Amino acid sequence: MINISSPLLGNDEIEAITKVLRSGALAQGTETEKFEEAFASYIGTKYAIATNSGTAALHVALLASGIGEGDEVITSPFSFIATANAILFCGAKPIFVDIDEDTFNINPNLIREKITPRTKAILPVHLYGQPCDMKEIANICNEHDLILIEDACQAHGAEYAGKKAGSFGVGCFSFYPTKNMTTGEGGMITTDNESIAEKARMLRSHGQRGRYVHEILGYNYRMTDMAAAIGICQLGKLDEFNQRRIDNAKFLSGEIAGIEGLVPPFVTPNVRHVFHQFTVRVGKEFTLSRDELRQSLSEHGVGSAIYYPLPIYRQQLYQKLGYDDNLPVSEKAAQEVLSLPVRPDLRQEELETIVRALLK
Ligand SMILES: *Cc1c(COP(=O)(O)O)cnc(C)c1O
Repeated sequence: MINISSPLLGNDEIEAITKVLRSGALAQGTETEKFEEAFASYIGTKYAIATNSGTAALHVALLASGIGEGDEVITSPFSFIATANAILFCGAKPIFVDIDEDTFNINPNLIREKITPRTKAILPVHLYGQPCDMKEIANICNEHDLILIEDACQAHGAEYAGKKAGSFGVGCFSFYPTKNMTTGEGGMITTDNESIAEKARMLRSHGQRGRYVHEILGYNYRMTDMAAAIGICQLGKLDEFNQRRIDNAKFLSGEIAGIEGLVPPFVTPNVRHVFHQFTVRVGKEFTLSRDELRQSLSEHGVGSAIYYPLPIYRQQLYQKLGYDDNLPVSEKAAQEVLSLPVRPDLRQEELETIVRALLK
């Protein structure tokens, strides 16, 4: 089976983690600091704060930005549930804005009508590795004095107009094993804002500034030095991994272009899309339904996945909270999307197997 994802770990990761184990210093320490410095420098921000998951990064980024009870945060319903849940963790309310038909990212033209006096922040998601329309979103934030927090959990190394995703506002990253780079579990917050960075460091570690001096209510969201050691190795390979994803996507898109009813991913002209996922639309003109296509691909040894089968507001949790949104572009996307393998380690013959399976 050609799996949709698998982490790419080599001897250097094994050696790095063994060194940490032998040192006996396992919790957040010097490796984590090194990883933070390297990550900040890669993204182009002054600060980076490591956490033990992308979800924790989102939670801390929102809290450190001052989001709390009664605030509204505008976000995309077409994402992993962690994006919206992090807003709920803060006692704030996610406000869903429909997505763009082509990019699957939040549609900036629909944001203004959802802004109220309670709106405090916009939390766009760079879905599948493609940056959102950051110029337009940044304009809206400036106009309405809103905080910008980016869910870049799928967009390590992605760029908008030559600037890295996660460097426009407060950036949040995940290093879960399926992401473009991994630490097992892990996350990172990136920012140029010194006071947000300082607050984030405190929130990650029980609100402490100095050793056992606790100023605010915080959490244990610390990264381990084992995870950080893996992260340092992975960051060194990220550009190469991403380039191979881009090349694989280019090949697949070219081959799919001629198939009736299959829509290859759209790439915005001024972005570097790093193809966390290679997601096609299975339209009505295609000979099979999406589920039949999945089944048939699986019979031909090709894995696939649906990200995401439901807009977040349709999840039980949100229905119970009283959400009754019905955003047409998100609804349609949830019915039509199918992600195919685009992993950096796919061989040419595997890429050809994927195309052959689609043609059959
Ligand atoms: C993976 C992911 C997260 C959460 O990251 P974890 O490390 O799994 O907590 C949040 N948002 C998006 C868009 C993601 O893909």
